[in-house]
Amino acid sequence: MPKPVAYVVSEELVKVSSLLPSNKNRSLLVHSLVKAFRLFASQHEDGTRCLQPIRPRKAAYKELATYHTREYLDYTLDPENQREVNSAEVGIEGKMNEFGLEDDCPPFLGMDEYIRLVAGATFTAVDALRTGITDVAVCWDGGRHHAQKDRASGFCYVADCVLAILSLRRPIPAPLPDSSLNAGRADGQKKPKVMYLDLDVHFSDAVSHAFRASRSAETAAQVLTLSIHHAAPGFFPISPLAGLPLSISDEGNEEDNTGELDPFSLSIPLRLGASCATYARVWRIVDRVKDTFQPDVVVLQCGTDALAGDPVGACNWTLGGEGGMGWCVDRVRGWGKRMLVLGGGGYNSPNTARAWAYLTSILTGNPIPLDSDIPDHFAFPLYQPSFTLDVPAGNMSDQNDDAYLNTIERTYHRICDILEERLARPDRPRHRSRITSLTRQS
Ligand SMILES: [Zn+2]
Repeated sequence: MPKPVAYVVSEELVKVSSLLPSNKNRSLLVHSLVKAFRLFASQHEDGTRCLQPIRPRKAAYKELATYHTREYLDYTLDPENQREVNSAEVGIEGKMNEFGLEDDCPPFLGMDEYIRLVAGATFTAVDALRTGITDVAVCWDGGRHHAQKDRASGFCYVADCVLAILSLRRPIPAPLPDSSLNAGRADGQKKPKVMYLDLDVHFSDAVSHAFRASRSAETAAQVLTLSIHHAAPGFFPISPLAGLPLSISDEGNEEDNTGELDPFSLSIPLRLGASCATYARVWRIVDRVKDTFQPDVVVLQCGTDALAGDPVGACNWTLGGEGGMGWCVDRVRGWGKRMLVLGGGGYNSPNTARAWAYLTSILTGNPIPLDSDIPDHFAFPLYQPSFTLDVPAGNMSDQNDDAYLNTIERTYHRICDILEERLARPDRPRHRSRITSLTRQS
């Protein structure tokens, strides 16, 4: 009997998540469209539900503290600190700066509830996977991939992606039959391997940095992060890990671009106008990384800001077609691994609702046709002028030409070899003979 896809939602979550200053009311649009398409009513042939709504719990302080610092939590969870800062209150302003609560991350009324409930929603999805009641759990209100352990950043106030991975990689208390999360537990040693795959237009800086193997580590990592995103000088976020990890010259000389190459911390930077054709081509690399790493669980961050029509305006990705967002998510589903599916960025709210409703239907195995009309519901007028589900391409040209994509492929051919080597011989020193660090040269 197929298990239903778990879908985290509640009225309280919608209300609190809709407060996020960068995405006001987006949560309301998303969950309303999923409901309007009657996805909760769809059933498998045996009469079981395809999509099971699950009510989120609030995260406990100690759960948040598995990653965030106590100083950050004590400040952001105190309702006293949610008012706008008066310029005369210099001391308070200093604290705000210290915790990143400025510019694109202003404090807001309900911030404490937002942090507890959004983290709790992601934990609820993780719980559903860990207990084996589902193989696919969706939390569109999560996916906050820029929040750091001690500060808010990039519209993100809580590091739910990191918290989820920390929880997923813990062994499960009681063995479950036929569970990939239980992989390798017979010896009581091995924990599940987690692959974090990020489709947001912005580099997953906070998640990648959180799990980057330390300089001295010589062992194979249990978590692999891979971010496919736009990169250009000055484009947020600035990180030494946001480019190609390795450069290979025509003569075959290799230069490490990251300070010390970590094959478990990966980035595929795309140039302006990335289209479905580019994503389809890059997906061969994603498949190879997955085949090499062989994860037990996949965490998929589905920020929609690379779609055509998003105000970020960096990519020209679509929902449909080969290489489209739906195609990519369906490919991950086809891996047959347990999946935690999270939201993320996306600043055209109706398009984000279209995308996440469509992706929800793909995850249940019954994709809604993209030419479907938007069902009549309170938000219907916002879906003008097409009033259909599709997010078609714009007229931006794709600057990811054949030569650039060849460079990415060549680089990843080598990175996958290094990854394979590290996995095969986790306890032996890394092979360094051909790699020169750019950082050490400068
Ligand atoms: Zn983003």
